[in-house]
Amino acid sequence: MAELLLVIDEGTTSTRAMLFTPSGQCVASRSAELTQHYPAPGLVEHDAEEIWRLSHACAAAMVTLAGGPRRIAAIGITNQRETVVFWDKITGEPLAPAIGWQDRRTAPLCLQLREAGEEPSIQARTGLLLDPYFSGTKIAWAMTNWPQLKAAGDRLAIGTVESWLVWKLTGGLHVTDATNASRTLLMGLGSGAWSDGLLDQFDAPRDALPEIVDCAGRFGETQVFGGSIPICGLAGDQQAATIGQTCFTPGDTKATYGTGAFVLTNAGTLQPRSRHRLLSTVLWQLGGRRTYALEGSVFVAGSLVQWLRDSLGLIASAPETEAIARSVPDNGGVYCVPALTGLGAPWWQPDARAAISGLSFSAGRAHIVRAALEAMAHQSHDLETAFAADGAQWARLRVDGGMITNDWIAQDLADILALPVDRPDFAETTALGAAMLAGLGCGLFDSLDDAAAMRGTVRTFEPQIEPEVRAVRLAGWRDAITRVVATPVVN
Ligand code: ADP
Repeated sequence: MAELLLVIDEGTTSTRAMLFTPSGQCVASRSAELTQHYPAPGLVEHDAEEIWRLSHACAAAMVTLAGGPRRIAAIGITNQRETVVFWDKITGEPLAPAIGWQDRRTAPLCLQLREAGEEPSIQARTGLLLDPYFSGTKIAWAMTNWPQLKAAGDRLAIGTVESWLVWKLTGGLHVTDATNASRTLLMGLGSGAWSDGLLDQFDAPRDALPEIVDCAGRFGETQVFGGSIPICGLAGDQQAATIGQTCFTPGDTKATYGTGAFVLTNAGTLQPRSRHRLLSTVLWQLGGRRTYALEGSVFVAGSLVQWLRDSLGLIASAPETEAIARSVPDNGGVYCVPALTGLGAPWWQPDARAAISGLSFSAGRAHIVRAALEAMAHQSHDLETAFAADGAQWARLRVDGGMITNDWIAQDLADILALPVDRPDFAETTALGAAMLAGLGCGLFDSLDDAAAMRGTVRTFEPQIEPEVRAVRLAGWRDAITRVVATPVVN
């Protein structure tokens, strides 16, 4: 009997396949590392063929473990967003490297468009800002610099990673879900359709682009695992995690602390407009109706801990930071503003650079490590302020990601945000969200609410800090960030 849900979670550094029961139990998983190529400073590329080969291999292993394709009710796919793949519709082979979401090659083009005054109109239409992060300028760059793309004519296919995987799984179905499409700079956020004006602006040929579809439904079937399995769920990774955290009501908010940190608040069914440089994006589309989210991205989260380990040699391993932070009563006046690659939301200052401030002879390694961990709560608090100014007041925060296994960070978040912080016992919320969508798409569930029990139990961290101690922390951070940020954007 078909009772299992197969998720393909295609991330930046690895791809994974997981098997879920409809009650949310993860019964098996298999992952493989992906190669990131750095051909020059600021350039980040993937080999799309490798993404397909490894995703396929992981998924095939899960199908075998499940006892064959007939045991699988549906496939759900979730993926690194904004990364663009270019391929040949006839051969199904990539025509160029995939340009990764972290790639900065289009910074000059973004600056040129911003200086030409294009950003307000682009933000109003797409909910996004002019940053190399999004796919549109990557496509424009590729169409100009890689002649084989124009030469391919009608054979050219362009898509984000879930489109590429669906094409390969089905042998030629070309779709993208509305969450992924909303990150391209090419989709009208209100219409849910490709915009002719934006396609022209970013030189994206309409015939090369996929059809925009819902996040749940029967999109197509794959035969590549030795039998037929329907593909029923599609969503970008941060949206999938927000669904996996059951943020189903306007105001519900989740934050994922991995390499970077991504915060999304359910903004309901009316297109939100940020006045504080947050992104407006599609949270999900079901039955042709979109639910939106406000999003804030922090570029440096867990990567700061990696930097303490690999570049400064201050720690031997990431988990060690928890005991080190507890070994001192406070930060000793030390603050760390981790602008190692500029600052993301709500500051958006690509040229800002990091600082460790407040050092004196009494400051030691433990204070610097503690200050680095404290930066997570402070960056989140800056976002909380921006979200509130945009009308999205958080009542509690649902957290996940590798960093949040650290209890000290979870407690510090609760203290500085002055909110309860919920951490699910099953941490793979991205995959869980894709499983919920797949279950909804194949009819195992009638609604997202029906799938909510898959999330399981949570541990809540309640605020415990003394108000005066919190006030000192907030003032110290404000002082530290003011030194780093040229022009404060919020407050
Ligand atoms: P991604 O999905 O972005 O690859 P993960 O969610 O796997 O990231 O989280 C990995 C990040 O979390 C790493 O940057 C690592 O430094 C950090 N990290 C992992 N465990 C801890 C910990 N116990 N304390 C602090 N940071 C941690």
